[in-house]
Amino acid sequence: MYVDSHCHLSFPELSERLPQIRAEMAAAGVDRALCICTTLEEFDTVHRLATTYDNFWASAGVHPDNEGVREPTVDDLLELASRPRVVAIGETGLDYYRLNGRSIADMEWQRERFRVHIRASRRSGKPLVIHTRSASQDTLAVLREEGRGEVGGVFHCFTETMEVARSALDLGFLISFSGILTFKNAEDLRAVARYVPLDRCLIETDSPYLSPVPYRGKTNTPAYVPFVAKQIAALKGVEPEEVALATSRNFEELFGVPHSGGTR
Ligand SMILES: [Zn+2]
Ligand SMILES: [Zn+2]
Repeated sequence: MYVDSHCHLSFPELSERLPQIRAEMAAAGVDRALCICTTLEEFDTVHRLATTYDNFWASAGVHPDNEGVREPTVDDLLELASRPRVVAIGETGLDYYRLNGRSIADMEWQRERFRVHIRASRRSGKPLVIHTRSASQDTLAVLREEGRGEVGGVFHCFTETMEVARSALDLGFLISFSGILTFKNAEDLRAVARYVPLDRCLIETDSPYLSPVPYRGKTNTPAYVPFVAKQIAALKGVEPEEVALATSRNFEELFGVPHSGGTR
């Protein structure tokens, strides 16, 4: 059985056909998913998924790309993180991909928001779900400075270099691979996936985005996460079942989620 460690089931593309998506997950052997929060405004919707279905969990956080939304305080995040079935802080991090004419210095608000999430993680003991794009050096620097070696978590939807992967692993973080790993032009990323030990890997869809091959360009759903596992298995020369088992165990350990029944 597979776990999707990062999906956005609260987004309308998916939430509007949840029964169908849940049926497809079950048929594909995907037994659990972590529903990721991207704004405080969205939290209740995300959280309801986790309290309604016993194989969904939720995170609490504000995505670095979201502007014009409520800015979280450490106390806001601690309160949400204390609710039942909330197992992570995020997604959070830095994204300098769309600066829209601003300089990196102008993005201090993003770094401050990230620090708030790291403080909430330190105080709650809940792991961070890190989003980093075109900002890996600052992401690592802020994590080192603010985390003081007291936080862990996952670099989600990893697309960075081997060096960044090594640094993230050194900081105690896991690396999560998405459908991007199956894209034709992702040879460098496949080298990273060969390098990251299986006991430090997670798999995810980041659905509704980034459908893996052979569904590239279509709406992604958690049911497609086995394609990511199969790609990792091929790269490492192991059976997909081994990747399913390892990434499920890593998920359970990182987020404090109990073993599911099933075949384990
Ligand atoms: Zn992200
Ligand atoms: Zn996401």
